[in-house]
Amino acid sequence: MKKDISLSDLISESNIVHDYDPNAMSVEKAKTWIANFLKPSDQQEIIHIKDALHRIVAESIKASINVPNHDNSAMDGYAININILNGDGPFSLKVTGKLLAGNQLEGNANEAVRIMTGASIPFGLNAVIPQEHVELNEGVITFKIKPHINQNIRRLGEDIKSGQVVFQSGRKIEPCDLGLLASLGIDSIKVYRKIKVAFFSTGDEIVSLGNPLSAGQVFDSNRYSLIGLLKRLDVEAIDLGVIPDNKKVIEDTLKKASDMADVVITTGGVSVGEADYMKEILKKIGEILFWKISMKPGRPLAYGKIGHCHYFGLPGNPVSTMVTFYQFVREAILTLSGQTPIPKTPLIRAQLLSPIKKVPGRTEFQRGIYEQGHEGTFKVSPHKDQGSGILRSMSEANCFIVLHEDTANLEKDMWVDIQLFDSLF
Ligand code: AMP
Ligand code: MG
Repeated sequence: MKKDISLSDLISESNIVHDYDPNAMSVEKAKTWIANFLKPSDQQEIIHIKDALHRIVAESIKASINVPNHDNSAMDGYAININILNGDGPFSLKVTGKLLAGNQLEGNANEAVRIMTGASIPFGLNAVIPQEHVELNEGVITFKIKPHINQNIRRLGEDIKSGQVVFQSGRKIEPCDLGLLASLGIDSIKVYRKIKVAFFSTGDEIVSLGNPLSAGQVFDSNRYSLIGLLKRLDVEAIDLGVIPDNKKVIEDTLKKASDMADVVITTGGVSVGEADYMKEILKKIGEILFWKISMKPGRPLAYGKIGHCHYFGLPGNPVSTMVTFYQFVREAILTLSGQTPIPKTPLIRAQLLSPIKKVPGRTEFQRGIYEQGHEGTFKVSPHKDQGSGILRSMSEANCFIVLHEDTANLEKDMWVDIQLFDSLF
């Protein structure tokens, strides 16, 4: 586990400092910087598996039984002992008993036993013939081909062996995992506590829903995009509303937020305008790194610490807020939540349906609309409205077209990387 380290300690480490240029930080470098300060929460709780979907396992989990815990039939049919079959088929055997799943055998197991899926294989029998493969006549079955040993038998422990580690610490619980835990008789597990994320919007012009909109004002959309983004990450979200561009009020709200959360996110106020106070306030109450990331949209980005709390200052333009959240905050929250390894967002190759103008030297996350052609290849059109204030095009798009730093203009039919919105959680 990493030790606590202050921003100033890190900046003064010579191996990093020669790379540190806040005026032209690449996306990857900024991510690496932030990652230096992140360590998973060490607080854990025990919860019922019914509540464990998408929670992060905090200890390795071992099976204490075999699944299945008995050899059983994979088919409705007849259990037989292949060792008593002599010569070439057809073979005939007398049905001497019947066995339903969960029941004890009625009759003897010396020849053939009528058996249902899931019923235990009687001692001495070693194959099951599906009922479709036999002819039944007056209590005698006839079949042509000798089965292999253990055919249509699910063996004890073939799913999970007793003593096997089924989940390592750091595993994110998916629906099938809940079933798997239940198959082992495990009803409660130890997970990491949910990460608490407090957030607020800043700006004198920003109006909360439910209030009238005067000239020059805009409704607060960022907070609602964030509510959605945070829901997908399954954190405990703490909504602190809209805060005016007032240093004292912002400072008080930041302090309050950092007292109750692991992460504080603000939107707006990180540019170089006259009412952009976040940098100054963070310097006073915590530590801050402030970057002009070489990316579009979303150039200004702040990361800092207020005590133990991580701070992300995202740009206020609604699309920039979302892009910087997806590219920086998402991964940071996953790391803090204890998940290991952090799943890499897949980049998929897609063919451009129209050209793109691009200057090398920065990473662009253009909004795109992809479709998968019937021959299987992905095709993508850049949305025509790429302004960082145009949230509608984010809503109409279904992926980012990721144009890497050294990429220049692209022609129709050239190949690009896309990141599906659906894969970003
Ligand atoms: P700022 O980053 O504060 O300079 O804001 C950049 C642009 O984003 C301005 O046009 C703001 O009005 C707009 N903006 C900032 N915060 C929000 C918000 N919460 N909802 C909608 N638009 C916003
Ligand atoms: Mg502002």
